[in-house]
Amino acid sequence: MQSVTVLGSTGSIGVSTLDVLARHPDRYAVYALTANTSSDDLFSQVIEFKPQFAVLRDEGLAAKFAKRLADAGCATEVLSGEKGLCAVAAAADITMAAIVGAAGLLPTLAAVEAGKKVLLANKESLVMAGQLFMDAVAKSGAILLPIDSEHNAIFQCLPLAADEGIKAQGVKRILLTGSGGPFRATPIAELAKVTPDQACAHPNWSMGRKISVDSATMMNKGLELIEACWLFHTDPATIEIIVHPQSVIHSMVEYVDGSVLAQLGNPDMRTPIAHALAWPERIYSGVSSLDIISQARLDFEAPDEDRFPCLRLAREAAIRGGTAPAVLNAANEIAVAAFLDGELAFVDIAKVIADVMAQTSIGEPQSLRDVQSADSEARLLASDIISAKTQAQYVI
Ligand code: NDP
Repeated sequence: MQSVTVLGSTGSIGVSTLDVLARHPDRYAVYALTANTSSDDLFSQVIEFKPQFAVLRDEGLAAKFAKRLADAGCATEVLSGEKGLCAVAAAADITMAAIVGAAGLLPTLAAVEAGKKVLLANKESLVMAGQLFMDAVAKSGAILLPIDSEHNAIFQCLPLAADEGIKAQGVKRILLTGSGGPFRATPIAELAKVTPDQACAHPNWSMGRKISVDSATMMNKGLELIEACWLFHTDPATIEIIVHPQSVIHSMVEYVDGSVLAQLGNPDMRTPIAHALAWPERIYSGVSSLDIISQARLDFEAPDEDRFPCLRLAREAAIRGGTAPAVLNAANEIAVAAFLDGELAFVDIAKVIADVMAQTSIGEPQSLRDVQSADSEARLLASDIISAKTQAQYVI
């Protein structure tokens, strides 16, 4: 029996994780569930899974939540804040890191530093602090398993000793696939007017709103490129991004002898979640079989960087290294939040990020503090740029 903490249990990945865990009560016991502010959803989850701990980041809500649980006769202990998140992340056998954005960095690192089995959905923490993060993995002996469907697919197609360097294992290229999102074929002139709901209507995947917008701009694929470089100890030149609208092939690995291995499956995050939970064994995920005959065709195309400038910005940040990916990520989070709040046009997301990248000096982070200050400065700058844009539009 293994104990599991689900960081971000009220989100899309969190809910899918609980779905898989509920299918295997003989293997896994839920140790802790966490949320930011969604106390009603967290309450239902706690009543169903009876974890030892529940954490709300918001301290005011946590006190009310503890009373509500006590009134319902539930013995789950309630913690709050970053301290509570880090404590439960470090204490279970397995931690699912599924908080969205930079907020996931410290709790995910806490699980890594405690040497746990860490299921990494929160790609932003690796994008921000890649070297420090991977150093912590090496030092603690944590087992880091990718949840992003693409990275999970690559992991499944790589040789077992890939962490010794994939090129030495005969790998020539990684083919990182992405659907192209909801605007793959939308006329570029129409992108200026798309709404948050249109951007979040992904054709194949059901996801949280932030990653849905990242998929629509293809920044998600850019963040995944950076994530893949760290996870698989390789450089951006080894990774080719391929648009594959059906999301049936989740990525491929090409070897020097010409062999190309692919991992296929229905687009449902419960497959990579079940794979990582049970690795190196296999367990049932609840996902239906891929009907390859009715699927019939698979299409591939090169990504269009005029349509998706975020992809180019992310590749540049990956090549530049140092604090560049943290700056990119911070600017993106602020720009996406402004778009979702109706304050920024979809096409201006990339422009804000490009402006922030151009106006920020990039350094080599020596500590987490360096990463956090690069992140904070980029957020401030992005907010200023967005305010200036909003005011300029208002004046016009
Ligand atoms: P959601 O927005 O659906 O869920 C985010 C979760 O994080 C919620 O539980 C939310 O709590 C919690 N949270 C948000 N902000 C904070 C905060 N400041 N402190 C503590 N907890 C917080 O996101 P997804 O599940 O879609 O994505 C989660 C991560 O997984 C992201 O990094 C994403 O890139 C990655 N990922 C997601 C995939 C998907 O299919 N969804 C696929 C691959 C990767 P609350 O409900 O209270 O707001």
